[in-house]
Amino acid sequence: MGKKMFHLAPLSLYDAGIEINRYGNIYMSWLTTFVRPKINALMHKREIPDNLWDQCTHCEQMIFHRDLVAHQHVCHHCGHHMRIPLTLRFETLFDDGRFLRVPVPPVPVDPLHFKDSKKYTDRLKAARAATGEDDALVVVEGHMGGHPVVIAAFDFAFIGGSMGAAVGEGLVRGAQRACELKAAYIVLPASGGARMQEGIFSLMQMPRSVIAIEQVKEAGLPYITLLTNPTMGGVAASFAMLGDIAIAEPGALIGFTGARVLQETIRQALPAGFQEAEFQFSHGMVDMVTPRSELRQKLIDILGMLLPGNREQ
Ligand SMILES: [Zn+2]
Repeated sequence: MGKKMFHLAPLSLYDAGIEINRYGNIYMSWLTTFVRPKINALMHKREIPDNLWDQCTHCEQMIFHRDLVAHQHVCHHCGHHMRIPLTLRFETLFDDGRFLRVPVPPVPVDPLHFKDSKKYTDRLKAARAATGEDDALVVVEGHMGGHPVVIAAFDFAFIGGSMGAAVGEGLVRGAQRACELKAAYIVLPASGGARMQEGIFSLMQMPRSVIAIEQVKEAGLPYITLLTNPTMGGVAASFAMLGDIAIAEPGALIGFTGARVLQETIRQALPAGFQEAEFQFSHGMVDMVTPRSELRQKLIDILGMLLPGNREQ
């Protein structure tokens, strides 16, 4: 204390954690060599993201996360189409990646007070926390190649993309919005089918969504389905198979009953690739199988032909 730096330089250096002995050798004190690095390590802990690498769910090759995003979640080793987050999906489809959410009116929650191993309300809470969405359907509007478009897309991460009353409400609202905007309506299913926990209310969404689609068709607007993995059960048995044009992503499972249950029921081996998009294409169930990288352009071409303002009379 009170020492002047100009005539006690070694001491003031000591204060800074450096010692100089009488032979002129410099020593770093324990403060510098031991404590400071510890504090620095605590203060500036290097964040190493645990999602730097992803693994292809098909060929199991490692993929750098940035590459996965750049390839729209398609494996660049084997071409397998993995699940793509909805926001990224919308950004890759819409002009300049810009879109607006279409609000969906709320519906009664848990009308049957359903409980299996967990309460349905707890499942909803967990799914909402995990996905940040209110339910399994997200409705957005924007432009593709300058054409007005409304897209209703399923989030498989939300209770398997299952269709309950809220999903039905979203499909109806999307159809209404398409009519208001004179826009094309594109629906992207990624769903195991009906939501068991809503029983009959879930099944009612099948005719309900079909009527909503009919309104779009009556207005002379194009209704396009983009069938992604999986499109199964009550979803496949209603609006998903009614597209003016049905496009499927490569390898997507499309069908009503899953292969395992079918095989156990009919006690016969099913053909290879049964219910995959390519199989359904070769059997006339879908119009085309389009890789994700070509989807936006393909949709723009179709919209150019089908939207009323562009059609040749
Ligand atoms: Zn792969």
